[in-house]
Amino acid sequence: MIKITLPDGSVKEFAKGTTPMDVAKSISEGLARNVISAAFNGTTVETSTELTTDGSLILYTWNDKEGKKAFWHSTSHVMAQVLEEQFPGIKLTLGPAIDNGFYYDVDFGDTKITDADFKKIEDRVLEISREKHEFKMRPVSKVEALAIYKDNEYKTELISNLEDGTITFCDHANFFDLCRGGHIPNTGIIKAMKIMSVAGAYWRGDEKNKQLTRVYGISFPKQKDLTEYLELLEEAKRRDHRKLGKELELFAFSQKVGQGLPLWLPKGAALRDRLEQFLKKAQKKAGYEQVVTPHIGQKELYVTSGHYAKYGADSFQPIHTPAEGEEFLLKPMNCPHHCEIYNTKPWSYKDLPKRYAEFGTVYRYEQSGELHGLTRVRGFTQDDAHIFCTPDQLDSEFKKVIDLVLYVFGSLGFENFTAQVSVRDLDNPDKYIGNVENWEKAENAIISAARDKGLNYVIESGEAAFYGPKLDFMVKDALGRSWQLGTIQVDYNLPERFELTYKGADDKLHRPIMIHRAPFGSMERFIAILLEHTAGNFPLWLMPEQAIILSLSEKYENYAKKVLELLENHEIRALIDNRNETIGKKIRDAEVQKMPFMLIVGEEEATNGTISVRRHGQEGKGNITVTIEEFAKIVNEEIAKTLKTFEV
Ligand SMILES: [Zn+2]
Ligand SMILES: [Zn+2]
Repeated sequence: MIKITLPDGSVKEFAKGTTPMDVAKSISEGLARNVISAAFNGTTVETSTELTTDGSLILYTWNDKEGKKAFWHSTSHVMAQVLEEQFPGIKLTLGPAIDNGFYYDVDFGDTKITDADFKKIEDRVLEISREKHEFKMRPVSKVEALAIYKDNEYKTELISNLEDGTITFCDHANFFDLCRGGHIPNTGIIKAMKIMSVAGAYWRGDEKNKQLTRVYGISFPKQKDLTEYLELLEEAKRRDHRKLGKELELFAFSQKVGQGLPLWLPKGAALRDRLEQFLKKAQKKAGYEQVVTPHIGQKELYVTSGHYAKYGADSFQPIHTPAEGEEFLLKPMNCPHHCEIYNTKPWSYKDLPKRYAEFGTVYRYEQSGELHGLTRVRGFTQDDAHIFCTPDQLDSEFKKVIDLVLYVFGSLGFENFTAQVSVRDLDNPDKYIGNVENWEKAENAIISAARDKGLNYVIESGEAAFYGPKLDFMVKDALGRSWQLGTIQVDYNLPERFELTYKGADDKLHRPIMIHRAPFGSMERFIAILLEHTAGNFPLWLMPEQAIILSLSEKYENYAKKVLELLENHEIRALIDNRNETIGKKIRDAEVQKMPFMLIVGEEEATNGTISVRRHGQEGKGNITVTIEEFAKIVNEEIAKTLKTFEV
């Protein structure tokens, strides 16, 4: 008999040779129907693998990440089978599962795959799937494996790097492939499959190697899941921040200015400014002081901070002064500058914490292929701040930062978020700097702060930076995608490197602890995520314009101007569309611009001193006619629903 430990901690005895599927059946028929893959003692196994030792077993279903991985990887086998069938002579290389689906890299030789081939491949994949072929692993000797793949230099290379005795093939139907394992029980559960795209990919990601064709696909256990997935992709395309940024005239890129360097257009700059003012106001209340530092710094500064040794070679290279032979770097982070600000004065424990905040623009080299809209850029502005405090203050400082981050997320309509606490790997204490006592203090401070603030958090061992533990906020956007936003990090390293001190109650000099924090992360990334989350319908307080006045004809231009003036008195941002266009056209354009309110003025309104209010996206339903004062009240009430005052 062998003892199997299940994830809930329960231990059950089974006969030697029991399979994960047998274990599932012993729990429930329902589970057995849904189990699609398994892990035994931390290693992926087949659901049909015979277990011969004691160990812990995890059973995965489609709802688990690992389950999806097995599902998608298995589908890549079937797709490879079909590709070989329909394109004889091709050479298969690697076909792993990815975050959304799978791919197979193929050397198509003289043939070529195009969009027109997709349907036929998909149909055949489903046809084979319906035949319910089992996936079966079998060991193959190295000599035999090399002989089988003697005409495929890619598989030959893979096999050459494997130890004899560890090589396995996976069989299904009349197809086999070199494979480590991790499959669904049989092809029958693949009910929907689609080829998403093809792209060029170098063998092993090295551009010196031959370019292969990467065939991307995805599959699902239900047709409905595929339909929903495709709808979600369409919606994501509509919400793409690069598309919306252009339509709403927020930002642009110019090849002349340089790749990855966003240009903020007037509306985008106003939006950014509003976000900055919003955070500055809350930070002021929370005891932060604004500082300003230059965009470049001497190379020595980053040698001291350690950034040069770590990132120097992969960064923008130094700028040399013409006469003095000085070397400067574009600022990759604001922290070293802020350390030097701290160092301008001697401090006592009574002065701490010091909280320096700066919307600091930094520059980091990213390869051109990595650049993506506002989410991967070469120059960006962090809503940065560094808190210098004593070890005893860490706990309360951390809680205060969490309060601020939650306030920011709440005001911007992000309600669905989780927190990740990254702590040390206790098995590798040498990886970390700073003493154990301080680490324990900091980790406990973060965990208790997360708990006390009611965060939905997970603790990840070994994910801390070498210089300190951290807390990251992950938000889910309107499409259910996860993004990392704000971060709070404890740092023992920079205070050491910059020899920061304060005089303690014992009259001796001590090192302060540094906290790095940025609720938005960066203005660029945050605005990109906010754009995709809201589809450009920002919270009303943030909209570049809150209302547009549409006059029915030139006759009412003066009244429109008067309305604008009154709105400005109520601090409502508005503009007039007095183009010589029909009201229908003006409304359509305002809808595209995502104007929250369209205020129509004509004869009746001018006579009565009113406006006719139409709401964005409501197709004229619920239009109301009100006075300016009444409208201002509506606007302010809506703003107050999201934008609260920050209370310390
Ligand atoms: Zn496989
Ligand atoms: Zn920092």
